[in-house]
Amino acid sequence: MDFGCRIDEWTQAHLGEMIADMAKLIKIRSTVGGAEPGAPFGKGPALALDKAMEMCREAGFEVREYDRAAACASFGEGERLLDMLAHLDVVDVADGWETDPFELVEKDGMLYGRGVSDDKGPLVLALYAMRCVRDLGLPLKGSVGLIMGTDEESGMRDLPHYYAVEKHAPNTFSPDADFPVYNVEKGHMHGFFSAAWEDGTALPRVKSFSGGFRFNVLPADAEAVVLGVDEKTVRAVCEAEAPRLKVSYTAEPAEGGVKLAVTGLSCHASVPENGVNGITALAELLAKLPLADCAPNRAVRAVAKLFPAADCNGTALGVDMADAVSGRLTMVLSILKMDEKGIECTLDSRMPICATEDNCVKPILSLLESEGFSARADFTPPHNTPGEGEFVRKLLDCYEEVTGEKGRCCYTGGGTYVHDIEGGVAYGPLFPGFEANIHGNNERMSVADALKAVRIYARAIAAVCG
Ligand SMILES: [Zn+2]
Repeated sequence: MDFGCRIDEWTQAHLGEMIADMAKLIKIRSTVGGAEPGAPFGKGPALALDKAMEMCREAGFEVREYDRAAACASFGEGERLLDMLAHLDVVDVADGWETDPFELVEKDGMLYGRGVSDDKGPLVLALYAMRCVRDLGLPLKGSVGLIMGTDEESGMRDLPHYYAVEKHAPNTFSPDADFPVYNVEKGHMHGFFSAAWEDGTALPRVKSFSGGFRFNVLPADAEAVVLGVDEKTVRAVCEAEAPRLKVSYTAEPAEGGVKLAVTGLSCHASVPENGVNGITALAELLAKLPLADCAPNRAVRAVAKLFPAADCNGTALGVDMADAVSGRLTMVLSILKMDEKGIECTLDSRMPICATEDNCVKPILSLLESEGFSARADFTPPHNTPGEGEFVRKLLDCYEEVTGEKGRCCYTGGGTYVHDIEGGVAYGPLFPGFEANIHGNNERMSVADALKAVRIYARAIAAVCG
């Protein structure tokens, strides 16, 4: 029987045990918490680390721990040829789950639970792939490691503890995304701009304006109070413009003027084409009102000019750029807070490989300054593992062999666990088109997909280390 058939047989025979191991990890509420002795990211992640290390030792692997922040299970002799990088921490849950999020539930071919696809389930898949390769006795030229972190979701403070002691493997993949292979991650600009002014008396003027709550979420809702206008004037502008802006609105009398609120559609800031930004839509509505010439109104008009509602690619900022490997720049004004003293805004931009500090970040900042704002930005450069290399080729081959689908390299606007790891890629375990509801309610993974993924991972270990 050939090696592929033996892998498929082994994984089928161990499916029940594999799901039971996922359940043990999902039981532990490993959301980040305050540092305690022996638990740098809180009790939950530390308990999950203990449980995972126990599981790996029981499976017969050598396990080493790094400052209680991470651990690594490995097997094989000699040089480390492959690292797999997965995490045990999870984001917290909201109301609305149909099952207990901290009990793995199997129903109609689907597994439910917090972490089942991000990233406790995938960690177990990688562990079983290692077990499979070992049990089938394939001779390896070097060793393979499963690095288990406990702080992926809130700052990745875990990996430095591991890499302070150990070298980077020449090949690293993280089972914490989708198949086929994500080898390119856009750069990230986290920008801030603000202006301050004295209390004004000019009318009509925007008294307050706010929307957004998190830098990486495109906000649906925004509201403003405009003094010195009547409801009829505001409604006339809204009726004319709201359909084009794709927002709903309410306008009601308030404090010597009108309170105007709009609702668009929220989404992650890395894919703004999926949403409708309430802040920029409201800025456009406000800019169409017959406002006086004063500092707060000028700020609102500048926002409307530089961040038109329909523009999520930085076109008005002059930085709309794209390349074949990493796609098009995205630009989201994600938080705006304005009162009678001034305005503060936050930007989230995902930048293709062709974008640099010089051709992109600096021009944005100087344009904002020319409009009267103070501006600054934090820039994280992109991640780019060449798609033509032998490692990526092998990963794609394994994917093709198991699925019968054509493998290809993809880019993402989000950052993954390998963002700072040279030569690293994200590789499964979710399949294109599957909605796992990661970070949301009823997070899930299909049993059939889990089986396929572990078969791919076992082949990948054999291909890279064999
Ligand atoms: Zn994750």
